[in-house]
Amino acid sequence: MKGRFNLRQWAALVTALILTVVLWSSSFFVFTHLSHECTGRHCSVCHELEICISAISVISEAIGTAAVAAVSCQITKYTVLPYFAGRFLCPVSLVDLKIRMDN
Ligand SMILES: [Zn+2]
Repeated sequence: MKGRFNLRQWAALVTALILTVVLWSSSFFVFTHLSHECTGRHCSVCHELEICISAISVISEAIGTAAVAAVSCQITKYTVLPYFAGRFLCPVSLVDLKIRMDN
């Protein structure tokens, strides 16, 4: 019996789960500590807020870039490549192949 997931699918699933947990936990920390009593210049909460906001920004940009790359790869795969393959690589027809269609 064939397994349900291979190694690449497990790695993708674990990576997606880790990114989701980091994104949600960072967002939760930012929302819960946004209005804190700041101690001044070396406030540890402000430092942690900066790290969380940076993580949210990096993950969001990476997800957006990956989504655009995935969509553009699919568009190229299913529309552009077959079009150019049919247009330039195989300019044949039934008449060119001398196939009779009268029987
Ligand atoms: Zn602070």
